[in-house]
Amino acid sequence: MKSDHLQALLHPTSIAVIGASNNSEKIGYAVVHNLIESGYQGDVYPINPKSEEIQGLKAYPNITDVPENVDAAIIVVPAKYVLGITEDCGKKGVKALLVITSGFSEVGKEELEEQIVDTAKSYGVRLLGPNIVGILSNKENMNASFAGFLPLPGQASLISQSGALLVAMDAATYTRGIGFNEMISIGNMSDIQFSDLIEFMGDDEATKCISLYIETINEGRRFIETCRQIDTPILALKAGSSKRGAAAAASHTGSLVGATKVYQAAFKQAGVIQASDVNNFFDRTLALTLQPSMRGDNLAILTNGGGVGVLASDAAERFGIPATEIPQDLQEGLMDYMPDYGAAKNPVDLTGMANTERFHQTTKLAFSHPWVNGLVVIICETQLLDLVEIVKGVHRAVKETGIKDKPIIVSLVGGDSALEAGRWLIEHGIPAYNSPDLAVNALAALRDHGRYGSPGPVLTSSENSNDSQTAREVIAQARERGRTGLTEIESRKIFAAYDLPVVDTRLARSEEEALDAAQDVGYPVVLKIVSHDILHKSDAGGVKVGIQNAQELSAAYQSLLKNAKQYKADAVIEGVAVQEMAAEGTEVIIGSVNDPTFGPTVMFGLGGIFVEVLEDTTFRVAPVSNSEAASMLGEIRAAAILEGARGKGPLDREALAETLSRYSEMAADLGDDIAETDANPCLVYEQGKGVKIVDARVILKEV
Ligand code: ADP
Ligand code: MG
Repeated sequence: MKSDHLQALLHPTSIAVIGASNNSEKIGYAVVHNLIESGYQGDVYPINPKSEEIQGLKAYPNITDVPENVDAAIIVVPAKYVLGITEDCGKKGVKALLVITSGFSEVGKEELEEQIVDTAKSYGVRLLGPNIVGILSNKENMNASFAGFLPLPGQASLISQSGALLVAMDAATYTRGIGFNEMISIGNMSDIQFSDLIEFMGDDEATKCISLYIETINEGRRFIETCRQIDTPILALKAGSSKRGAAAAASHTGSLVGATKVYQAAFKQAGVIQASDVNNFFDRTLALTLQPSMRGDNLAILTNGGGVGVLASDAAERFGIPATEIPQDLQEGLMDYMPDYGAAKNPVDLTGMANTERFHQTTKLAFSHPWVNGLVVIICETQLLDLVEIVKGVHRAVKETGIKDKPIIVSLVGGDSALEAGRWLIEHGIPAYNSPDLAVNALAALRDHGRYGSPGPVLTSSENSNDSQTAREVIAQARERGRTGLTEIESRKIFAAYDLPVVDTRLARSEEEALDAAQDVGYPVVLKIVSHDILHKSDAGGVKVGIQNAQELSAAYQSLLKNAKQYKADAVIEGVAVQEMAAEGTEVIIGSVNDPTFGPTVMFGLGGIFVEVLEDTTFRVAPVSNSEAASMLGEIRAAAILEGARGKGPLDREALAETLSRYSEMAADLGDDIAETDANPCLVYEQGKGVKIVDARVILKEV
């Protein structure tokens, strides 16, 4: 959808300002003023029925009165007039609207907002907002907003759901020396979405990093697919990660913020790099804008201070790019530029004897060595050193290598001269930070982008021969009976249709049938109550494991029925499930929920307290491939248990990953019908011995 509408929005040849004003206290004044002041080269048409001239420009009573074509219109009139004006703009043939006016869905007026979007759509007009600050574009010298000035020019672009944050960041670009090409306020996202803008910016040579401030995303799957197709690094600062934060964001934007873990998973799958707070958003934007991505894990750290070197390598380990020992030949080369008591292993401690010459030479050696995928240089201020001279030496070294496909990041630890030297570096294309961990954090963002390297499609099902027909029949039958909670027997059928390793199970409607079934299944067996009214069977005393013979089975049968009646007198009992008793194994949970933003997701965690108390789980948007599933297994904090803890051998992670992947296909395939599922527990055995799902639960969406 590469539209000339977005072209008209971001690079308009002419702009009308509807609600333009001569009263300097009005937004309609600021917008006209800012357009003129910023040096915008296109035509500006102020629209105001009461003035003939606004800020020296000829004004028109209505947009339809403008004799020339108008590309984009900025609307600042009160909310109640916006619908009519949208209609006028449609008639005039305006391609894009920037609706600055607020007072729509964010204050509960969804209906009015929808009407406006529908009207815009009926004329083929695209709409940004409402409830926005506007667009700031250095590329177009265009300040189409009520923010006071354009940001420091640069090669990042910001799309922000918060207008206030955009205005604040605009100002901070100068203080921090981080430049932006465009800043776009996206507001209520009634029509134009993050995906539309990302898609458009992905083709823009002038944007080297797309930075997103996100409270909520609409069309989650489209977001993932769009981001995956774009080579430009995308960085997201997502608000609403704490439960409290989520509530604040919800009341703020008038829309709910999706579950944090699902967002994190979706970002990962989208290849979107994350920022943790506003400072980190700037820091990472800077690195992603100025430096190429890091295409391997080999990090070298050069420093004149032992301590800061260790701090950097601590940070590197946290980010999964540990500073491992550098190759011998590089060590030997470096040793020529340090005293005997220096250390060349990594971090490379050049010691307090390091001067401009030594930093220059060692940077050149390390940066040009093929082993090194990324370099961090940490310079501590000392009385002897001229920091600006040193960073010039580092910069020169990088230039001399001619290498442009690996990153270098510098950290300057010290006072004013460290700041000054850092500024010089940033202006010359090398990101600089005042603390070692920040430098490594920035490099980690480049590493993340390198890892996301060649994504390709992810949300596509594999060629597994699934029997989705059978699954849909089970669902249809339950629906016919007006039920959404399926019994284990029904759920199991659905699982089996996707070749999930469920245990052998028979439904018995009498004690005789149960005894026969147990003969078939083979002792020991498990007996479980089957009732739509009892979905948590153990709570109702509805599970008996380890039944060894007919006698025990009869007793279990009686007590199960008795317990069920006691638990819920009017529970309708369909019978009992006679089930193969699975051998003891490590209990894990696999589940799926339908996320309002991203649709079906799959969840994995270890059973027991790991999931209940520690919430030690990991998510993905479904479906996931085997290898994606395998990486999920490593993401939980208790991952070591799968590797074989407490004297046990390693568990069958391969079988588990395959099961997880199949499970995710089921969740994706039946996503229109299913609200939630779980396999709780799924038992995992030693390597080569597979996994078994001993409980299955499916809950359908309400219709
Ligand atoms: P609930 O509805 O209470 O979750 P489950 O079917 O999960 O009922 O059974 C409760 C527990 O009994 C399980 O967590 C598992 O430890 C054990 N269990 C259930 N079925 C089997 C089985 N077929 N083989 C071995 N253990 C089982
Ligand atoms: Mg269970």
